[in-house]
Amino acid sequence: MKTAVKSLGSSIIDDFASQIRGELILPENSNYDDTRKVYNGMINKHPGLFVKCVDVADVIYSVNFARENNLLVAVRGGGHNAGGLGLCEDGLVIDLSGIKFIHVDTTEKTVRVGGGNLWGEVDHATHPFGLAVPAGIISTTGVGGLTLGGGVGHLSRKYGLTIDNLLEADMVLADGSFVTVNANQNVDLYWAIRGGGGNFGIVTSFKFQAHPVKTVFGGPTFWPIEKTEEVMSWYHDFIMNAPDELNGFIATMVVPGPPFPEHLHNKKFVGIIWCYVGDLDKAEEAFAPIRAMNPIFEHVGPMPYPAIQTLFDGLLPPGMQWYWRADCFNDLGPEIRAQHLKFGSSIPTPLSQMHLYPISGVASRVGKEETPWAFRDANYAGVIVGVDPDPANAEKITEWCKAYWDATHPYSAGGAYSNFMMDEGQERVKASYKHNYDRLARIKKEFDPSNFFSVNQNIRPSE
Ligand SMILES: Cc1cc2nc3c(=O)[nH]c(=O)nc-3n(C[C@H](O)[C@H](O)[C@H](O)COP(=O)(O)OP(=O)(O)OC[C@H]3O[C@@H](n4cnc5c(N)ncnc54)[C@H](O)[C@@H]3O)c2cc1C
Repeated sequence: MKTAVKSLGSSIIDDFASQIRGELILPENSNYDDTRKVYNGMINKHPGLFVKCVDVADVIYSVNFARENNLLVAVRGGGHNAGGLGLCEDGLVIDLSGIKFIHVDTTEKTVRVGGGNLWGEVDHATHPFGLAVPAGIISTTGVGGLTLGGGVGHLSRKYGLTIDNLLEADMVLADGSFVTVNANQNVDLYWAIRGGGGNFGIVTSFKFQAHPVKTVFGGPTFWPIEKTEEVMSWYHDFIMNAPDELNGFIATMVVPGPPFPEHLHNKKFVGIIWCYVGDLDKAEEAFAPIRAMNPIFEHVGPMPYPAIQTLFDGLLPPGMQWYWRADCFNDLGPEIRAQHLKFGSSIPTPLSQMHLYPISGVASRVGKEETPWAFRDANYAGVIVGVDPDPANAEKITEWCKAYWDATHPYSAGGAYSNFMMDEGQERVKASYKHNYDRLARIKKEFDPSNFFSVNQNIRPSE
């Protein structure tokens, strides 16, 4: 049983405040309600105390304070997690948003990034040098949570998942110690944090391999939702045999409104969002088979990499209601294609959607045990999201999402990408890590035997 922060005497909080350079925020402070907002407006947690860390020392003092006072701890990076895992009830939130720095080494083509940075900040810093680190598909996501869970996005087929590009990290462990992990130092921890989430410690600095990416050729192509089965069948054959330079994730979705043309508004589509990172002179050739499928709409062309990374930012501002369900898939056979048509045709609100991200190309050539990310041989990481700005629609989007998942789960590979899940319990966490779970549990026992870092897709210390 954890101690609630409110039951600590004020002198204990005052002593803690005197150790910290960052800000402490308590429920009685005027900025408390703003501070406890996360990206998903469905999350409504009431932490006992926030500590906005500005340096590694703040993180160490915070970890020691929480451990000595038996507090529940949540760690917040970008605050994007669907299940609100950057917050906890009654405990201490160690907020990393003040630990931001980015250093691009153009000789090594590496990037050092603070534990609290967002991906848009990294893209901004690397772009002038013609470099990019593989991340997700939206710029407001935190580097911390996305990286520690895996990182699936536009560059996965050419350069692998984000974790495949993580060279080193600095971490504060549950006992307050500070370690550097890489291929030569603390190798078990280095293995565990490449997919095992925030279970092992607080990462204050990441070092990534960057790649030469400046202008990409990409954007969306849409087909009427009635063509879902035909387009998905074609897509599966096409993407499995496409050059690594070409990435495209497939979606069932609604065109919500501007910036898309008016005649498409509020209609349902099967869409593919492409990103080609090869030689621009060959882009038209790469897109010829896609255009031969006669999309009803396309907005594909050359654009700076940060532009494709921010394409959805405007449509998906923070604070909306989000309900998530996820699974990985090997195939897109006729039975599951029929379910995508059925549930794609009944999308309940304009922003609700389903995405399947290809796990092929370089991302699939990393061994199944090389990192904790277990589904290297599944061909897709899928996610279904019910989304709407109006809390009155929370039940409607949740029910649709659950029913869609129930109908497609029997055709899945059995588990999900952990960053696409909400809080679905221990069995689903085990299913996500599959054959890698036991090794993660042993490493957890060695470095966090009391499960101090428990507000995450939790790996329990082995018995
Ligand atoms: C709109 C949207 C789009 C997305 N698109 C993608 C995508 O394209 N690809 C993809 O792979 N994922 C995507 N995601 C999922 C995303 O990877 C997860 O939501 C991830 O958890 C977000 O990380 P965060 O730091 O913002 O979250 P937070 O809520 O701050 O944290 C999530 C978890 O990570 C831990 N954590 C965060 N930072 C640290 C740190 N520095 N050290 C230790 N633990 C830490 C937290 O303790 C918590 O358990 C998307 C999410 C959203 C909402």
